[in-house]
Amino acid sequence: MQFSLISDTFEKMESTTKRLELTQYLVDLFKATPREIISKVVYLIQGKIRPDYEGVELGVAEKLAMRAISKSAGIPVKKIHEVFVEDGDLGHAASKILEQKAQTTFMVQQITTERVYDTLLKIAKLEGTRSQDMKMKYISSLLNDATPQEAKFILKLIMGTLRLGIADNTVMDALAIAYTGSRENRERLEAAYNVSSDLGRVAEEIAKHDLRGLDNFRVSLFSPIRPMLAERVKSESEAVEKLGHEFAAEYKLDGERVQIHLQDKKVVLFSRRLENITSYYPDIVENIAKSLKTTEIILEAEIVAINENTGEFLPFQELMHRRRKYDIAKIVGQYPITVNLFDVMYLNGKSLLDTTYDERRKKLEETVIENDFVRLVPRTIVRSENDLEEVLENAINAGCEGLMLKVLDAPYRAGARGSNWLKLKREYRNELGDSLDLVVIGAFFGKGRRTGRYGTLLLATYNQERDTFESICKVGTGFTDENLDQFYQILQDKVTLKKNPRIESGMEPDVWFEPEIVIEVVASEITLSPVHTTAKDVIRKGSGLALRFPKFTGKIRDEKAPEDASTDQEVITLYRNQKKITQNPAET
Ligand code: ATP
Repeated sequence: MQFSLISDTFEKMESTTKRLELTQYLVDLFKATPREIISKVVYLIQGKIRPDYEGVELGVAEKLAMRAISKSAGIPVKKIHEVFVEDGDLGHAASKILEQKAQTTFMVQQITTERVYDTLLKIAKLEGTRSQDMKMKYISSLLNDATPQEAKFILKLIMGTLRLGIADNTVMDALAIAYTGSRENRERLEAAYNVSSDLGRVAEEIAKHDLRGLDNFRVSLFSPIRPMLAERVKSESEAVEKLGHEFAAEYKLDGERVQIHLQDKKVVLFSRRLENITSYYPDIVENIAKSLKTTEIILEAEIVAINENTGEFLPFQELMHRRRKYDIAKIVGQYPITVNLFDVMYLNGKSLLDTTYDERRKKLEETVIENDFVRLVPRTIVRSENDLEEVLENAINAGCEGLMLKVLDAPYRAGARGSNWLKLKREYRNELGDSLDLVVIGAFFGKGRRTGRYGTLLLATYNQERDTFESICKVGTGFTDENLDQFYQILQDKVTLKKNPRIESGMEPDVWFEPEIVIEVVASEITLSPVHTTAKDVIRKGSGLALRFPKFTGKIRDEKAPEDASTDQEVITLYRNQKKITQNPAET
């Protein structure tokens, strides 16, 4: 299939934000795509080459890409750099440069989608000393035969800057319409996606076998299951109101969520974002089997750092020391952990997703041999608000964030945030009622002690509908000196020459960043704001929402993608709840 079909579609998609139009463009593209390559097309639309959990990365730096453009266009790298600085996006820069060249050369051979995809895959697989040169050659050979528009999107794919303004749900809508004629079948696709985390494979099966193809999707070892998520509640009484008079309360530990897949001696670990994190935890790989009475299982646990001498749980940040590519064996001893199991989704060849929570917990208890390293998350069956208060108190005293409350007869709803799991956190009882996870989009340089580092960060929420990041506050408190150094180091790599087009902000910070880092913030109140763009015009025309007295909690939420950050909708809900409370003081 001609790659121009894809680049034309991408071009049209970039120029609209209307969901129906975006979906229709995808439907048209899917209908024109030969069934054998539908998975490749779906990955490209997602801006990937393979599903996330396979960890396939292109590893192409801006400099290398500029060298490739320079080679194809026959223009010095310095000139390319100038256009790039002006433009802020390498894709646009390449298309501009190649447009000038196209006017002076004859038309080139047409480029196919298969060729683009296969070349990208080859680039990702290159290793070793000569790999940089080879990558450069592969890219420039694609650019040689590409039209300026195709070059733009090839580079966006390579640099990871393709932004079509769609979420996976829109892709699933379009697949359902294209192959089954009705959007109503989206749920069937979603069920298959939830157990495979591979939208390309879902597309391939439905393209080849219609809805019957989706029957082949089962929970299977070493394919991550999309995690079940919880809704928040603010108080014990709200929890009892929602869950009735018998439910489970588990400690909500403050660590990293992990999905453990084990078959005989093979162990693979997936993060909440479904990335493969096996290499950070060699101690789990080595020891987990010894704590299980089975050799085939998928489990879920919270990994928590501990103080080995006292057995105390340590804050989440301690785990971040494990995030390294080298010397991990040394670090393991220095930063010990415990594995706290809370669910089992697959056991001895059978999926347990449709089994009730209570049954799953029983199976977990029967299968796990507890020791210092592997434990079951403490849980209590709660029958009254008083019980719940007591368990919450105990959990907080044991160093937990709060409780996870679970409906006893509910299945494991993969990929869904619903009311079968509720989270009740300690912070929910004060001020704003919740902490927020916000994306760092910009910074202002510091003064005094903070000179040479960033003094204040500009933060944003995520708008799912529009796939944009909208500013909500500046934060300058809650940082230790160590934090400031750490932020400066992490964020320096994220500096962009121009504001990323997905960012919307009425402020002009000293530097803009790629929206990638998520941090946790608490605040005293949400107020209307003339400058911030979160929920702009929703509550009042011309105003957005902002946080008053925001404070960094010390947590960098590495396990969250920017799209997992708190959304404008969540902030609107918090704002409205806060208004209710002030209007009806009797209720508080
Ligand atoms: P948060 O910001 O509160 O961590 P989240 O968006 O990461 O939330 P939620 O579904 O809202 O995810 O909250 C559940 C999280 O709490 C899980 O992702 C998991 O990491 C953690 N957790 C700790 N203890 C438990 C437990 N007993 N059961 C389920 N999840 C637990």
